[in-house]
Amino acid sequence: MHEKCGVVGISLEDRDAARPLYYSLYALQHRGQESAGIVTHDGFQQYSHVEMGLVGDAFDPGDLESLNGSNGIGHVRYPTAGSVNACCAQPFSVSFKSGSLGLSHNGNLVNADEIGDELADLGHAFTSDGDTEVIAHDLARNLLEEDLVRAVKRTMNRIHGSYSLTIMHDETVLGVRDPQGNRPLCIGELEDGYVLASESAAIDTLDGDLIRDVKPGELVVLHADGTGFDTYQLVEPENTAHCFFEHVYFARPDSTIDENLVYEVRRELGRKLWGESGVESDVVLPVPDSGRAFASGYAEAAQDDDSDIEFAEGLMKNRYVGRTFIMPTQDERERAVRLKLNPIKSTIEGKSVTIIDDSIVRGTTSTQLIQLLKDAGAEEVHVRIGAPPIVAPCYMGIDMASRDELIAGNQSVEEIREEIEADSLSYLSIDAIAETLDKSQADLCLGCVTGEYPYDIEGEATDRDVARPDIGTQSRPADD
Ligand code: AMP
Repeated sequence: MHEKCGVVGISLEDRDAARPLYYSLYALQHRGQESAGIVTHDGFQQYSHVEMGLVGDAFDPGDLESLNGSNGIGHVRYPTAGSVNACCAQPFSVSFKSGSLGLSHNGNLVNADEIGDELADLGHAFTSDGDTEVIAHDLARNLLEEDLVRAVKRTMNRIHGSYSLTIMHDETVLGVRDPQGNRPLCIGELEDGYVLASESAAIDTLDGDLIRDVKPGELVVLHADGTGFDTYQLVEPENTAHCFFEHVYFARPDSTIDENLVYEVRRELGRKLWGESGVESDVVLPVPDSGRAFASGYAEAAQDDDSDIEFAEGLMKNRYVGRTFIMPTQDERERAVRLKLNPIKSTIEGKSVTIIDDSIVRGTTSTQLIQLLKDAGAEEVHVRIGAPPIVAPCYMGIDMASRDELIAGNQSVEEIREEIEADSLSYLSIDAIAETLDKSQADLCLGCVTGEYPYDIEGEATDRDVARPDIGTQSRPADD
């Protein structure tokens, strides 16, 4: 199971960190709905509250009051298909000879088994089978021999894969981003302190200012008195491997990631989608909510080209229905699409319609939607997608279905078009993604659309010429 989470860390001058942590977890709720947790430290001891469920359900006012201290970290965990796993809820806490550690992890290690086995041979006892605990134990061990910065460096040199971490060592809050910067992490300033968060929207929620992204391979140490922070470039990256899918689907549109405002990226991708494969139709409809910014860019570019295409909100979303993706069976996923989206007949009847979505994974949403639109009287339904076909699984932290579940896993675009019964279907090119993000393809993780990954994964191709260790397939579940 590969997961996708949100992390946060806060150091304040003279007020408890629990509430700001709680608010920032709310802002990151879209990154994980299975569990939520906060760990704080008041200079004497660590306090922890980790619970299954949404942020709003996981804490009551008493829980927040019991989390003492002006320093803390938090975590929201992505749901796993059809199962809940209390053992892997985070932040993960461990006490050891020279102090306490709390750890929040977003990402997925590819060599967790190997390190876990080595540590187990040295006598470390694991309480979960997740990869976050492996990082915590490795770091705790290094802290027995080294100062904080050297200990983190040693751990970074051992762990491979994607990780954005917020860590609490006693009352010191740290942020670490993996040398390829696969998952986002940024730093912001508050009136009375500093914050580390997966996305800048969390900083906005606290009325703070985004300072910058944490650099790939960088460690940020917040001063426990909330007055500043130090940074250490612990590993010099050769290439980055930023996940393009954060921009396409996962992140909030109001977040800035690696210097790009996600909303503007999506609009530009929509514009390029029109440029590459625009189709004349009466109306263009976004698939809410993820297709919205793409569709507005697409329609704007069409209008710039003097097209008569009309932009309309023709699909209404029931916001109380969760993600179709996490429904355990295909039957339930299909029913959920129907529960979630309902067409507005007057914008559709007798018209040729183009629907715009960010991505097609299994194909459930588009198949159901096309049927729905045709039942509502659409004469033609064209589908335009703001990402390339997803042809391979994600090993870097996103739950993306297995290869044989992916509709583009072994079918051509034409075969997919036939299967979903669209009148036409086009995806955006990889070039358009790289150009919009202003990165070379070598600096992006494009594994799910190329099948070539920034790490050597057994049975999969690598996208890099640079020699990398063959780490083997990870079988320890990622819990971040
Ligand atoms: P599918 O119905 O399986 O083709 O999934 C496509 C829909 O799910 C699109 O509307 C996407 O916005 C959304 N989606 C894409 N990737 C993910 C993901 N990793 N987790 C949950 N939803 C996703």
